Amino acid sequence: MRKNIVAGNWKMNLQPAEGAALVQELCPQTETLQHSGVTLIVCPPLIYTAWALSDWQREGRIEVGAQNCYHEASGAYTGEVSAAMLANLGVGYCIVGHSERRSLFGETDEVVRRKTEAVVAQEMTAIVCCGETLDEREKGQEKAVVARQLREALRGMSNEQMKQIVIAYEPVWAIGTGKTATTAQAQEMHAFIRSVLAELFGSETAQNTSILYGGSCKPENAAELFACEDVDGGLIGGASLNAPDFLAIANSFQH
Ligand code: PEP
Repeated sequence: MRKNIVAGNWKMNLQPAEGAALVQELCPQTETLQHSGVTLIVCPPLIYTAWALSDWQREGRIEVGAQNCYHEASGAYTGEVSAAMLANLGVGYCIVGHSERRSLFGETDEVVRRKTEAVVAQEMTAIVCCGETLDEREKGQEKAVVARQLREALRGMSNEQMKQIVIAYEPVWAIGTGKTATTAQAQEMHAFIRSVLAELFGSETAQNTSILYGGSCKPENAAELFACEDVDGGLIGGASLNAPDFLAIANSFQH
C-alpha cells in the first residue's frame, strides 16, 4: 500500500544538542501524525544514528533513516558504513542516490543500484532519489534522465522487493535553491515515474509505490504539492531543520 511519508534530510547540519532539541519538538506530534497515516522519518548525520535510535524512538515514534550507506557488507572500505551495520542498529530507511551524492561524490547509476540492492537485502526501505539538472530540463531531457536513473537503480528488483522501495523525485534545480517545481511539473513527472514503474513491475506495484517530491518543499507549498494525485509526500532538506516548518509540512496532507 502506498504510504504518505515525510522524510527530513538534515544533510551535514546541526550539532548533536541542536538535533536532540529539534527532535524533542517533533516527538509530541508523531502519534497524531501516525493516526492520520503519515510516517515521519528523520535522517540525521550518520554518526548520530545510534543515539537517535535509542533516544528518539523511545520518546516518540520517530523513524530513523540514514542519508547514505556503502554497498559492501564489510571489509577494507575506510570511512564507509554498510547497509548491514545500519540494519543491525535498527535503522529502517536509507536514502540512496541523492543528487549531492551523485554530483559531489561521483555516484553513478551503477553505484546507486548496488546500494539500493544492499539496503533492500537488509530489509530496510531504500528511498531512491532521481531527478534532472536544470541543463537537462532546458534540453527537454528530464523524462529520459529520470527513466534511465530508475531503470538502472531498480534493475533486477522483484515485485516483492519493490515493497521496500520509495522513490524521491528531486529536480536538482529545486534542491536548496528556493525554486520549487510547480504542481503541474511535479504531477507530470510523478505520473511519468509511476508509468515507468508500471512498465518495469506492473501496474499493481506502480500503484503501491510511494513517490515523494523533494526540492525546496516548505509549509507554503506542501499542501498544494501533496494534493497532486501522484505525490505521496516529501523528502525535505532545509525545512526539516526547523521543527514548526517540518511539522507544518507533515500536516499538509488532505486526507
Ligand atoms: C534534499 O536535500 O533532498 C532537499 C530536497 O533539500 P531542500 O528541501 O532544502 O531543497
